[in-house]
Order: sequence, then structure tokens, then C-alpha cells
Amino acid sequence: MPLQFQFKKFFSLINKLPRLHFWLLILLFVILILISLIPHPEASNKKVTKELVLPENISTQVKKSIAVPQGQGSVESNNLYPEFSGNREAVITIKSGDTLSQIFSDQNIPAANLQEVLEADAEHIRLANLLPGQEIHLQIGPKNELLALKLVIDRATTLSFVLKDGEYLSKIETKKGEWRNNYYHGTINGSFYVSAKRSGLTSSQIQQISNALQDKLDFKRLRAGDTFKSLVAKQYIEGAYANESEVLAVIIERGSTAYTAFLSDDGRYYDKDGMGLTKAYRRYPVNGRPRISSPFNPRRLHPITKRVRPHNGTDFAVRTGTNVYSIGDGVVLRAGYHPAAGNYIVIKHGRKYTTRYLHLSKRLVTKGQRVAMGELIAKSGNTGSSTGAHLHYEFHINGKPVDAMKVSLPLSQEVPANKIKAFKATRDLALKEMGEL
Ligand SMILES: [Zn+2]
Repeated sequence: MPLQFQFKKFFSLINKLPRLHFWLLILLFVILILISLIPHPEASNKKVTKELVLPENISTQVKKSIAVPQGQGSVESNNLYPEFSGNREAVITIKSGDTLSQIFSDQNIPAANLQEVLEADAEHIRLANLLPGQEIHLQIGPKNELLALKLVIDRATTLSFVLKDGEYLSKIETKKGEWRNNYYHGTINGSFYVSAKRSGLTSSQIQQISNALQDKLDFKRLRAGDTFKSLVAKQYIEGAYANESEVLAVIIERGSTAYTAFLSDDGRYYDKDGMGLTKAYRRYPVNGRPRISSPFNPRRLHPITKRVRPHNGTDFAVRTGTNVYSIGDGVVLRAGYHPAAGNYIVIKHGRKYTTRYLHLSKRLVTKGQRVAMGELIAKSGNTGSSTGAHLHYEFHINGKPVDAMKVSLPLSQEVPANKIKAFKATRDLALKEMGEL
């Protein structure tokens, strides 16, 4: 096509545009020209042109945005008119296979920032294994430096990192929500699993019930006509079920015998008389009592920066390959690799307690797996940001790290004498809600 025709076509297209769009288009070209004239201190010209891409249908999209970042289908720019001298923001919804390093490189954030923010994440271990559906909010400065990152972990939890005095400070926020009790009951018809499922209990709740009573009752021996009752606490955040639940009480009647389990506030199940049903915890995640090379210390100072860098765990000086055991019955909440934490495992023991095992050389359990007290879960190592072979072990109560060597743990088989009154009061409340008292 001759050049002349192309111009004619172009001008006739321009004439068809609404007035506002025409002037916006002109404005856009002016901005484009100005930008191309501004000397960029850090990035090359190549980067600048990459950031500005015309939307395909400018006549319909011009009102929404003038420029969108290239190749970012799921990214929305919060700024109507991006200021290239100021900050920009991006919101990314994680899809399967997304990694933080890919997201940072898409946004031209320097690799050094990635390392720094991952270091700051060592105490949370959240950024290395992003889950589909999670949301990341980024605030990015004029030199593409990361100013702030916010990760919406789930309905209840938000983790944020903010650049302050050259370092990323992290903060985790948890919405308490509301726990409501739900009552389920039924009669055995088929297997316990099928019957319990029919009553509305989920697989994980049924698993909790069978775990609580596994040493007392052979579930295969339940017969048609036997009954079960269960009280389950469920967490709701802003009115919606947050997928967190805990079995509070169980009564299973096989013939004329009743099997009972009540959750105590120490996270373990006891029968109606306070005799332990699940095993006690152990103090050490390794055999013997190895030397502690660095104790739990919430006020530890960083050797170089002299800033407070809490040490949330206990470091055991053990050589690589040492057996690591779960300190209690539980479920593997998370397991993976993190640049700072190395190979790590997080285990949940009831609603209240979690334990973490870091810098491992080998993980022997996977996410979702049930583990018993004393079960071999890993081999210790020196992975991630670690300057020598050791095991870093953390104990959390309600999400807050505590000194694992000092925390009062349920180490005995029955409810201690000074707690039996409180246990019986909780038990009676549950029985009342189940219509048993
Ligand atoms: Zn440590």
C-alpha cells in the first residue's frame, strides 16, 4: 500500500475518534515524546519503552488507562496515569506455578531486593512457596526498587514487608474471626467414615476423631446402630467459613460402651475423666540433649547492623544428617525449600501449637501428612542462610514464637491436678451443647 493511502486512512481514523479521546491521544504522544527525552539514570532506554505499551483498542480503553505494563494480564495498575517520577503499584493474583522471582523480574525489581525480602521472610517462611489464589500487592519506586510488599496469605492472615532505612521490616496481621461450635451426630450404617461424612463432618474432622480415639477404639468393629456425636469448632472470618476447624468433643457408643474424647486447652485429647488419649509431647526434636549453639532470644542484636533481629528458635549444634523427630502428634502444615530457611517443615499440633524445623538436609514428610510424636520427619543440615550445620527449632503458641526449651508442655499422660477443674468445666460445656447434660 502506498504511503499516501496509509496517511489518509490514519487521518480518517483520527477524525472518527470522539473529541476527548482525540485529545487524550495527543496527550499520550506528548508524554511519550517527553519520556523518550528524559535521561534515565539507571535503566537503559530499552526498559522505558518496555514499560509503555498502547492498549489494543484505544478508543474504548482510553478512559480506563493510558498505559499498561507489558505481558501482565493479571496485573492491574492502581494509578490511572502512571507517574514515571513516582511510585507505582501492582496487584498480582498468584496462579499455579508463579514464583516470587518471576514476579519480581516481570516488574523489573532488582534481584538484590528479592534476596533482601526473602531474608526478612526467614521468620515467616511464606514467600518461597506461593499458593494459587493468594494475592500480592507491590509498591515499586521510580528506580524499580521494591518499597513494600503485602501478601494476603488467606482470609485471616496478611504479611507485609516495608523498606525502612535500607532494610525490609516485616509484620504479620491475623484477623481473629469468630469460632462457632457445630454439632454433628449420626448412626453407623456402613463404615464409620461413610456414616460420619453423611452427618456433615469433613474428611479432616473424621481424621481428627479417629486419631483421638485410635488407641482406645477399633473403628472397624463399629456395627450398624452404633452412634456417634461430635462437637466441632469452626472459624468464621467476616461471616465466611475460613476452612479452619477443630474437633472439641466426641462420644462414640459401641453397644453399651461409650468412648469419649475432649480437647483440652493444651491441644491434646483426654477421656471424660481426664486420662490422656494422645501421646504427650517431647521437649527435644533430636535424640539426647545436644549443645545449644544459639538460644531463643527475642531481643538478639544483629552482629553488624546492631538492629534487633529476634532469634525465634533454638539452635542445636548437631552435624548434618542427624535424625529430627516431631515433638508431638500433628499434621504437616507446610514443607519445602526457602532461600533463607533452607529445607523446612512446619507441623501443626492441634489448634494452638505449631513447630518449625529449619536448614534441613532432607525432608522425609510432605504437606498434609499426619505425623506421630517421635516420628522421624527429617535429617538436619546446613541449607539456606546458615553458617554451619545445626538444627533451628521453633515452637509457636497461637502463631507467636516462644522459647521451646522453657514452654510448659503437656508432658504427662493425664490432665495435671492443678488443671483438672478447668478441664472438667470445659468438658461439661461441651456435653451441654451436645445435649448430654
Ligand atoms: Zn536459629
